[in-house]
Amino acid sequence: MTLVMKFGGTSVGSASAMRSTAELILTYREQFGNVVVIASGMGTKPIKVTDLLLGGANAAADGDTDTYRQNGALLRDINAATIRELLTTEQKAIIAENDAMIGRFENICQAVSYLGELSPRALDAVGGLGEQMSVPIVAALLREMGHDAEAIDATELIVTDSHHTNAAPDFAATQTKAAARLRPILDRGGIPIVTGFIAADADGVTTTLGRGGSDYSASIIGQVLGADEVWIWTDVDGVMTTDPRIVDNAQSIPTLTFREVSELAYYGAKVLHPKTMRPCVEGNIPLRIKNTFNPDHPGTVIMEHAAASHGAIKAVTAIRDLRLITVEGKGMMGVPGVAARTFSAVADADINVLLITQASSEQSICFATSAGTTESTLNALETEFVDELKNRDIDRIWAMNPVSIVTIVGAGMRGTAGISGRVFTALHSINIIAIAQGSSECSISIVVDDHDASPAIKLLHDLIVTQ
Ligand code: ASP
Ligand code: MG
Repeated sequence: MTLVMKFGGTSVGSASAMRSTAELILTYREQFGNVVVIASGMGTKPIKVTDLLLGGANAAADGDTDTYRQNGALLRDINAATIRELLTTEQKAIIAENDAMIGRFENICQAVSYLGELSPRALDAVGGLGEQMSVPIVAALLREMGHDAEAIDATELIVTDSHHTNAAPDFAATQTKAAARLRPILDRGGIPIVTGFIAADADGVTTTLGRGGSDYSASIIGQVLGADEVWIWTDVDGVMTTDPRIVDNAQSIPTLTFREVSELAYYGAKVLHPKTMRPCVEGNIPLRIKNTFNPDHPGTVIMEHAAASHGAIKAVTAIRDLRLITVEGKGMMGVPGVAARTFSAVADADINVLLITQASSEQSICFATSAGTTESTLNALETEFVDELKNRDIDRIWAMNPVSIVTIVGAGMRGTAGISGRVFTALHSINIIAIAQGSSECSISIVVDDHDASPAIKLLHDLIVTQ
């Protein structure tokens, strides 16, 4: 059996976290036989190594040569302290290896500051250094504990296109490369420790899979190796019924379907890198989310056909600070193509639409976008409908003040009568501005004033707890 396990920033964020991580790796290797580990860069709140690296590079591009130097010095301190606490035999070698990476970071930043320009390719070269520093530490720690572990740079495994900062994997090429590199290690009983987040294009140039992309690295490797399970180790007990900062009796959800997780991620729950699911769906590989700091908790299992408890609402989430844009006019009725023109104008302006509603009277179309794009959305629509606005076929195009989309998710709602009744009864004290239900019937989204979002979440969460 093969298990791919990804350890996030906090799971490798300190010497003690790394020690627990090493113990977990060994425990589950006993159970599964083969374990492949993917690790993120160190990330103990509030210091996240990837942020220090990218922040330094961005500052350098703006001519600030202090930030990257300070960040470099800080990284040297953090890494050396962690390594000294964990390693003896390999201490010197790993500190030197880490120092060389930091030296590279400083050199690139210096070049960036001279040029006054930061290319996406340079951003990837810098961003991936966090993983390239943490992985050798974990591998050396396991070796010092008496096990055969090897640090592997994912540029040797994952092949992507050259779309820097958000590269897409070539699965066929990755399968060949990853199997050739990883199988011999597994066959001799070794443990590969692989950098998350980074990959390389066909020319071998470093790319990254997007921020938070280590989750995706794990599912890519899981798929190409035909793993039996992929586990994401993080610092919470799996996917929660809602944000525990809003509702204190938020609970961990035992099982979710891939579809439910996609819906949750889309509507603002920060669960996994959004592309993580696809390789697992294709490989039919269960994906488990577990807590490094509470490893006995079963966490959440995500699979194709998770128990869809009948009628159940599983989670409630929200995206805040959105704007509801309305195109309104009595003359719109029966004018063909208003919806098509509205959304193509919005798409041409590169604006992401999160929710759409149109009443059947056809007198208005309304949709939600993020606050930052309000101006450009209104401009795009005013240009598109300049004639209709003049003729008064369209009366006005306007944006409503900060709103939130509150979404409840649960595949078991499909075909179950009475769910929306329960939802709207629970929300009787809240003013509902718009409603949308996907035809998948896997979620219901409600638009409310920003101030009403937390109260709405609390009321809806009570439905989950009491159902
Ligand atoms: N270290 C990368 C980031 O911060 C990738 C990850 O943590 O998943 O985005
Ligand atoms: Mg993450």
